[in-house]
Amino acid sequence: MQTIVVALGGNAILARGEKGTFNEQVRNVQKTATQIARLIKEGNRVVITHGNGPQVGNILIQNELGSAMVPPMPMDVCGAESQGMIGYMMQSQIRNALAECGLHIPVCTVVTQTLVDQSDPAFQNPTKPVGPFKDRLHAEARQKEFGEKWIEDSGRGWRRVVPSPDPKAIVEADSIKALVEAGHVVISVGGGGIPVIENGGILRGVEAVIDKDLGAERLAAAVGADSLVILTDVNGAAVDYGTPQERWLGEVTLEELRRYESEGHFQKGSMGPKVRAVIRFIERGGKSGIIAALDKVLEAVRGETGTRVYRSLRQQRAAT
Ligand code: ADP
Ligand code: MG
Repeated sequence: MQTIVVALGGNAILARGEKGTFNEQVRNVQKTATQIARLIKEGNRVVITHGNGPQVGNILIQNELGSAMVPPMPMDVCGAESQGMIGYMMQSQIRNALAECGLHIPVCTVVTQTLVDQSDPAFQNPTKPVGPFKDRLHAEARQKEFGEKWIEDSGRGWRRVVPSPDPKAIVEADSIKALVEAGHVVISVGGGGIPVIENGGILRGVEAVIDKDLGAERLAAAVGADSLVILTDVNGAAVDYGTPQERWLGEVTLEELRRYESEGHFQKGSMGPKVRAVIRFIERGGKSGIIAALDKVLEAVRGETGTRVYRSLRQQRAAT
């Protein structure tokens, strides 16, 4: 039985243009759960992680607007809230989807911390936009009062930016591994995990955001996964993306993918971290790394679609 870490993109929970009502999110998660159930039914051991951008953004807005009545929570706590909220929707829908297939497998969510290095250069250079768009006055007030960093975002207004440090290790790795080995379907490392730093054995949450694809790679390493499958709203990675020369990548070697990466084909903050995660996974001994569309997960795992990179040529041939 192979162990697959599935990283779900934003579209698994919220489609572009949707507002984020409970009904919208549950409907999307239900479709996602059906895909996950298919994968499990085929005999795969599946470990799940997911993004949390829009959800944590909404929690930040709730905190800000409610601050006159309810004390606002720091960002690490907002991250934990989003893991619980999304985890609940996923675990209930996946449980139901499995039951419909006649499978009665325990499903649970683990609130997860991810260790980052406090000397990570990202802390000197916050780049990841979070929360709502505001005007310049608001941005300046927050910069002055709280030392936050705000930037003007492509004419759409001002937005807070926070550091996006590289994930080092999953703090709850042993718990997650024990559950996975006991046959449970585990949802964890949501939103890349809650970033924490360590000082003399003591962990402390920080105001930062970890990339969910890079967090997924750490999870895949922690559970010793055979495959890392990153699901999103496009069918893989393309070179010359969005140009007339655009070419979608199918099966690629590690060398090829590294070269395209160094040539700058994959956008920072979207396709870039997916490609980086897949490269790291293979470099560190993973068997296959796949980037594919959410609704084609089974076909992608069978080697029929998506961008696929394998550790060796022999494996490459065996999969196709
Ligand atoms: P997710 O929520 O799944 O992480 P992202 O928006 O972060 O979604 O990443 C997926 C997006 O990456 C696609 O919708 C696509 O527009 C964009 N993208 C940027 N560069 C590329 C590329 N080279 N090939 C394919 N997609 C790309
Ligand atoms: Mg993304």
